[in-house]
Amino acid sequence: MKAEKKPVALHDLNFDELSRLFQSWGEPAYRAKQVWSRLYQGLAASFDEMSELPKSLRQRLAQETVLGRLTPRAEQRSSDRQTRKVLFALPDDAQVEAVLMGYERRRTACISTQAGCGMGCSFCATGQSGLQRNLTAGEIVEQVLFFARESPISNIQSPISNIVFMGMGEPFANYNQVMAAVRRLNDPSGFNFGARRMTISTVGLVPGIKKFAAENIQVNLAVSLHAATDDLRSKLVPINKQYPLSALLPTVREYIAQTHRRVSFEWALIEEINDTLEQARALAALVKGMLCHVNLIPLNPTSGYPGAASTRERIAAFRSVLESAGIPNTLRLRRGIDIQAGCGQLRSQTSKV
Ligand code: SAH
Ligand code: SF4
Repeated sequence: MKAEKKPVALHDLNFDELSRLFQSWGEPAYRAKQVWSRLYQGLAASFDEMSELPKSLRQRLAQETVLGRLTPRAEQRSSDRQTRKVLFALPDDAQVEAVLMGYERRRTACISTQAGCGMGCSFCATGQSGLQRNLTAGEIVEQVLFFARESPISNIQSPISNIVFMGMGEPFANYNQVMAAVRRLNDPSGFNFGARRMTISTVGLVPGIKKFAAENIQVNLAVSLHAATDDLRSKLVPINKQYPLSALLPTVREYIAQTHRRVSFEWALIEEINDTLEQARALAALVKGMLCHVNLIPLNPTSGYPGAASTRERIAAFRSVLESAGIPNTLRLRRGIDIQAGCGQLRSQTSKV
């Protein structure tokens, strides 16, 4: 028996691939442009919205392609209503979560790059559940489009001001699909989202950082450091055994030299684990003189990790070491804790459907 042909997911195609598809159907060249602009400027969620296409073409598209594979299954809002978490089901039953955070003047979409994560960081809920699979570029982009559709003026201007690749998954473990998603979002004839308003956060995959440095793109880079000595970092972030600080830090320095872009270092503050004055001093020594910023995030609780968030006093002491060493740092607001949507709390298993 012949295996059934899988329908093409439109959001997985780049413009050339879309053009080739229409060409193979004998459609005129302008069709690809029309559909591309419907997908990424009109934010179409159905073929019916593509009213400028002949009905027969809409029917063929509906038969042979898919438009949108993310099905929202559950949604939670934080009690302050500033944070929304949405759980999406994918056609193969993998699940991913994305979060929209409202600040005064910003709306940041935090999106997933993998269903689960294989990096196994001990304090991270996603890491505790393991890797299901990589997401495709289209599946990554669709999370953004979902939030972008919500504004009444969505076909004119995106209501999202920032996109951070900080949901489930390690972006550089799914490098090609993540970069394809970045380029899709950035495309001036499509979604047209500024590269400088996107940030990719990595656990520190050295080959990924090197490749990223060579992309010649203005997307921001964040590196999850969490510890400034190898023994502690290997406990919190096991991939440190493969890419220890002696490999990671020179790679980040090289990235900065190549791109002239400021790097953020992420540091989840865990009481009496990595919030000691020794760690603060070691951190200051590691990053001194670098074009960087340290983001401190009090640990968000997860079921699989016993550590606690640092107290206010310990945070202040940690920061004062950084400040006297002249290391720029900020304490990140904790968002959406009550709906398990804070950093590292995205874990599909815990979500109710
Ligand atoms: N895999 C990438 C991006 C996703 S994680 C990375 O690790 O960088 C996004 C950020 O949340 C990372 O800095 C991660 O270390 C942090 N994080 C994970 N679990 C956390 C927790 N329980 N509390 C606070 N931050 C956490
Ligand atoms: Fe994966 Fe990042 Fe969580 Fe580590 S912190 S397990 S790399 S998602």
